[in-house]
Amino acid sequence: MIPDWASERASMVECQFRARGIRDPRVLQAVLEIPREEFIPLESRVFSYQDEPVQIGYGQTISQPYMATLMAECLELKGTERVLDVGAGSGYQAALLGALAAEVVSIELVPALAEQARRNLRKTGRAHNVTVIVGDGSEGCAEFAPYDGISVAAGAPEVPFKLLEQLKDPGRLVIPIGSMDDQELRVVVKSGGRIEARVATYCRFVPLRGQQGWK
Ligand code: SAH
Repeated sequence: MIPDWASERASMVECQFRARGIRDPRVLQAVLEIPREEFIPLESRVFSYQDEPVQIGYGQTISQPYMATLMAECLELKGTERVLDVGAGSGYQAALLGALAAEVVSIELVPALAEQARRNLRKTGRAHNVTVIVGDGSEGCAEFAPYDGISVAAGAPEVPFKLLEQLKDPGRLVIPIGSMDDQELRVVVKSGGRIEARVATYCRFVPLRGQQGWK
């Protein structure tokens, strides 16, 4: 039997997002419109709407749906922004950000995953405002900087300074910071020449590799 993806998506929004306090109507609408199952390898597709990360190959995961959605909400996007997505992985987060902003640059260290993200974005009709680049996103992506928002889907020991440099004023950065095993999801806000941070939640992401990540 083919699962009813649309109703799984709707119940994810109620039980995993609304119940935990996600309120931004644009964010909730965007997750309803994006077929998450299309970003997950066939053999794991039944887990598409489960409350957990799912393997996507190369030892990497597509983030838990709640975490991806919370991160998108924390950027407070209105639709006019240019956003940097670090760690393209499956391409799902890039698709979600693309539905909420004007333009997304998504950078991925593993070339095969970048190709997979491009394929997933194309087949779901989400490639028109998302550019997937192969590179070390711990150094941001200077070519398209500055960004109104930056979302990092891998945990770092500290906030990479180049990401702060490439963030506009005003601008918002969301990034897991901590050890390899446990992190806090930090929301860093640049405004009026000042930088402030708060902790949105606690989390466990795969490690950010590269120059400004874990060596
Ligand atoms: N946002 C993704 C989740 C990706 S998991 C999704 O929606 O599916 C984190 C990803 O970050 C992995 O694909 C990993 O290869 C990538 N990554 C790790 N370090 C990186 C770096 N320095 N630059 C770019 N990508 C990196």
